[in-house]
Amino acid sequence: LEAQFAQSQKMQAVGQLAGGVAHDFNNLLTAIIGFSDLLLLKHKPGDPSFSELMQIKQNANRAAGLTRQLLAFSRRQTLRPQVLELPLIVDDLTVLLKRMIGEKNTLAVEHGRNIWPVRADVVQLEQVIINLVVNARDAMPNGGSITLRTSNVEQADVAGLGFDGMAQADYVLIDVQDTGTGMSQEVIEKIFEPFFTTKELGKGTGLGLSTVYGIVKQTEGYIYPVSVVGIGTTFKIFLPRHVASATEETAKAIAAVAPAR
Ligand code: ADP
Repeated sequence: LEAQFAQSQKMQAVGQLAGGVAHDFNNLLTAIIGFSDLLLLKHKPGDPSFSELMQIKQNANRAAGLTRQLLAFSRRQTLRPQVLELPLIVDDLTVLLKRMIGEKNTLAVEHGRNIWPVRADVVQLEQVIINLVVNARDAMPNGGSITLRTSNVEQADVAGLGFDGMAQADYVLIDVQDTGTGMSQEVIEKIFEPFFTTKELGKGTGLGLSTVYGIVKQTEGYIYPVSVVGIGTTFKIFLPRHVASATEETAKAIAAVAPAR
């Protein structure tokens, strides 16, 4: 618990720092891109300096993309927790996800029956799923398959799962499974740290999984990686089952009885 607290404090500090730096950087990059545009106008596409200027501009654009991601990471969005059906959220994303993973990879979706509701922010939940699927794609450079699976986990079965630190409660579980490279123990230990990445420069920010971790914690859930090098990785996300309060139940009962006006 203490480690989790330290982690979330670290995330907040990094978030604030990153937000400030990203903002200033963005202004500077806008100037660099603007001036390279001006210079490009003064050269013809055949000139030797033209392609060099294009390089400057392209890389400045890439850097601007990274700072945008940093800003998104640091921004404290206003959260709107709602009672949600996870299978519906997943289904609504599949078209987008298929486009993101490309032709080389396949996406399969399997829902358990009568999945319990959860209470979370839709945008955040979507962010979690998208981040995990993008990572799965990146772990399969030669193509492979990604499976999204939802299921209910009853309180009585929690201890038997063998995951450290989970509170005894009912959960909705979503598995994000890939047939990619897998992760070594050393990598697994660092994945939730902000800025940890094994991807080449310009490809990864190392903010994806720390953002995911922050969201799952905010939702009072848990996330665990299960990974075998050369076989693949499954991220398991447990979100607490939402149980309607007495007031909600009463409101529903009244609504059912009262004639509609
Ligand atoms: P980024 O994707 O920008 O590198 P993340 O925080 O999302 O940042 O991920 C951190 C690192 O965790 C990745 O660079 C990669 O080494 C590892 N990783 C995450 N997901 C997977 C996966 N599904 N398979 C293999 N490695 C992964």
